[in-house]
Amino acid sequence: MTATASVAAADCGPAALGTSRVLTLPREGAAYGRAQHAPLPLRAGEVVLSFDDGPRPESTPLVLQALAQQCVRATFFMNGEPLLRSPDLARRVRDAGHTVAMHGFRHEHFASLPEADQLADLQAMQAAHLEVFGSPAPAYRFPFLEETPALLAALKTRALTVMSVDLGIEDWLPDPGPALLTERLLQRLAENDGRGLVLLHDAQDQTAAALPLMLKALKDRGYRVVHLQWSAPP
Ligand SMILES: [Zn+2]
Repeated sequence: MTATASVAAADCGPAALGTSRVLTLPREGAAYGRAQHAPLPLRAGEVVLSFDDGPRPESTPLVLQALAQQCVRATFFMNGEPLLRSPDLARRVRDAGHTVAMHGFRHEHFASLPEADQLADLQAMQAAHLEVFGSPAPAYRFPFLEETPALLAALKTRALTVMSVDLGIEDWLPDPGPALLTERLLQRLAENDGRGLVLLHDAQDQTAAALPLMLKALKDRGYRVVHLQWSAPP
């Protein structure tokens, strides 16, 4: 794949955080993330970065830039509405070598919606992903991590992996600033056995602004980034 090759060829050098390995998961109705499910098979010091709620033209390009500067690859869980508003930006995310997955067509509290509306949202999300990327998504993260029996069953039937999180840093709260976000990230990783699937938001200006400092801190503390992928669609 040319996109992956161009990332690998980028001149980051030993000072960059880099991407230490690729963890390829099968396309199946599994579920990961210690907040609600089993942990990913990560070794001590390994971190998976994930970004939700994009793509957003004001902040996602800055997130891509910060990741590229450190040769880091991540997973982006995109909502359907912004995806259809900014399909070129969404494809730019994928073409930079990142993994793209789904996060709810609208960002709804599904637990308070009728089952038919929940399933219609998933249907719309899958259709939007297929339209923009030309291939079916491998995984899904619930908005607000608010899982419902109806959608869990539908995801399992469709062999879509549910991705919860190990830890977040509340980067959606008003203006915590780069230093506090970075400190929180290091603290939460330490509390999670020094590893973890991290929830961030590329739709947040403050996250984009803090990302260079966060990546530098991960590098300085000896953390290694793992890139999540899924096997090719059948
Ligand atoms: Zn979200």
